[in-house]
Amino acid sequence: MADPQDDFITQRESMVDVQIRARGVNDEKVLAAMHKVPRHLFVPGELRSFAHGDEPLPIGEGQTISQPYIVAYMTEALELSGGEKVLEVGTGSGYQTAVLAEIVRQVFTVELLSGLSERAGALLQVLGYSNICFKVGDGTLGWEENAPFDAIMVTAAAEAVPKRLQEQLGPNGRMIIPVGAGFQELFLITRERRGFRKKKLLPVRFVPLVSAH
Ligand code: SAH
Repeated sequence: MADPQDDFITQRESMVDVQIRARGVNDEKVLAAMHKVPRHLFVPGELRSFAHGDEPLPIGEGQTISQPYIVAYMTEALELSGGEKVLEVGTGSGYQTAVLAEIVRQVFTVELLSGLSERAGALLQVLGYSNICFKVGDGTLGWEENAPFDAIMVTAAAEAVPKRLQEQLGPNGRMIIPVGAGFQELFLITRERRGFRKKKLLPVRFVPLVSAH
């Protein structure tokens, strides 16, 4: 009899080959992480068979898990080498958190909605990740106590780049963030000696980054 777990391994393999590698993501650390993290566990049970499709999926509370390619693209854009301390804003399902935790030394992740944060935290603990710290709160404020960060990943769309977040980037730190209301574009912000460099990457669609400030 077929082992259902095997099905998911095959689906992840083809997800990585067809949707990610074939579209130009070639950072082996990113590809290995996406191959390893069991994406089907991060979507609601009834959507499990769609977990590896080339699209975002609902995860409850009006939020979504990003399309696999976008997760890979954004992770690659941060040019991670392994020793980094990374801040993620928008834990959501915890899928992107797991992909980051596979690659870097330490992940700090902030989520506004406590229900999502708790569910993600429980799953990531069961999966054995011990290098992730969770916080419920407004991620536009970053996580001051643990700054500076080598990289910041924002997985919800901001109307403008939050200044407090940008300031928490360390020297040569990189932040990837969707910006725009309605029409959105992905930006890569790099901290340089004399300020910040902003590079536009590609059009995207994310849920809005909600800010109490
Ligand atoms: N990376 C997630 C994507 C989640 S969607 C995944 O892989 O599943 C974006 C998430 O950002 C949502 O869960 C939403 O609740 C959260 N969010 C929106 N505004 C936020 C804010 N100001 N601070 C922290 N999280 C926020």
